[in-house]
Amino acid sequence: MSASSKLPPFDPADPLGVDDLLEPEDLAVRDTVRRWAADRVLPYVAEWYEKGELPGIRELAKELGALGALGMSLEGHGCAGASAVQYGLACLELEAADSGIRSLVSVQGSLAMYAIHRFGSEEQKREWLPRMAAGEVIGCFGLTEPDHGSDPASMRTYARRDGADWVLDGRKMWITNGSVAGVAVVWARTDDGIRGFVVPTDRPGFSAPEIRHKWSLRASVTSELVLDGVRLPADAMLPEATGLKGPLSCLSHARYGIVWGAMGAARASFEAALEYARSREQFGRAIGGFQLTQAKLADMAVELHKGILLAHHLGRRMDAGRLRPEQVSFGKLNNVREAIGICRTARTVLGANGISLEYPVMRHATNLESVLTYEGTVEMHQLVLGKALTGLDAFR
Ligand SMILES: Cc1cc2nc3c(=O)[nH]c(=O)nc-3n(C[C@H](O)[C@H](O)[C@H](O)COP(=O)(O)OP(=O)(O)OC[C@H]3O[C@@H](n4cnc5c(N)ncnc54)[C@H](O)[C@@H]3O)c2cc1C
Repeated sequence: MSASSKLPPFDPADPLGVDDLLEPEDLAVRDTVRRWAADRVLPYVAEWYEKGELPGIRELAKELGALGALGMSLEGHGCAGASAVQYGLACLELEAADSGIRSLVSVQGSLAMYAIHRFGSEEQKREWLPRMAAGEVIGCFGLTEPDHGSDPASMRTYARRDGADWVLDGRKMWITNGSVAGVAVVWARTDDGIRGFVVPTDRPGFSAPEIRHKWSLRASVTSELVLDGVRLPADAMLPEATGLKGPLSCLSHARYGIVWGAMGAARASFEAALEYARSREQFGRAIGGFQLTQAKLADMAVELHKGILLAHHLGRRMDAGRLRPEQVSFGKLNNVREAIGICRTARTVLGANGISLEYPVMRHATNLESVLTYEGTVEMHQLVLGKALTGLDAFR
């Protein structure tokens, strides 16, 4: 018997055999989330995207809560306590359906819940986390302002003391889940530096008008937050977060999910291109039989599975408590950039059909334009890596 006949067969869905790295529980999480997305998102998402809405978001949030997908890798207070790899696999499967659904989960779990879990008081955790884990309360995370995105240290939203209370004034922009949130984690300047506040959205002076006319992440709620003299009790402040380190560590957690999620959007686009290339005929044969198409498919597969392997590697480091923020920047920079490249190439394989919502490719490509910008733009991650490599700070 030759050596090659003992080898496992080549699997186009997993050409590097990365699934060998997964435990049975990891596969179970992945399959559960994949089935949920196939059932509850994929049949409808093109229509949601076309209409620019995410109807039934509250119901979807509860279902995601029942799956254990909200605050998935957090421990206690109703959170699933899953591994970082399992959380990543869930992000990949959700984003293979649509980046908007993955964004809902990332903002809820990795930004709003993570902030409360890591920096909140025991009372804040008890009050919010179980309901957020169940999807009964949706959370949002307000860091970006109209005039301050990449440079949040310059934020203008201000929290002043009035007796024992805090009073917040300012505006936040581009806030995912804002208009549907029951609680907002808002970062504001105080006389003692930047601090985080847990803001119930029914407080007088708080409003969250939805931002319309987006051509990306259309099946996702994005809002402005207006804070007009919002009065909060003294214990609304997150006690353990001081300075910009607080929000930045939340962002690092969420970016980790994006490293995986982007590969989901890429996988869906690659699969659409592969299937199309096998069945679409021109010049008397399937276009997948032409060398130029095969070069595209091979290059897409290489970047897709390198990206998945990278995500696994970072996941294992996170589970071992050894993942540095620069490594997350490495992953986000590479995987989102490569995912967009895969979508663009996939679109060319589909020809004119590539621009149709009948196929998922253009939807993923346009979604990824937001993913490229939020949670730190490409340039910010290049600067993070540039600083780590050279020891020289080029941010300003
Ligand atoms: C759909 C969507 C959802 C979002 N959800 C949230 C959310 O839930 N919460 C939240 O707080 N924010 C959210 N954001 C905001 C997002 O994080 C910001 O858009 C992002 O940080 C970039 O900020 P900006 O858009 O103000 O761009 P700017 O900071 O104005 O940057 C514009 C361009 O200049 C470049 N640039 C800036 N500084 C430098 C420099 N020093 N060197 C080189 N280039 C530089 C940037 O890389 C970018 O290319 C969301 C954005 C989108 C699109």
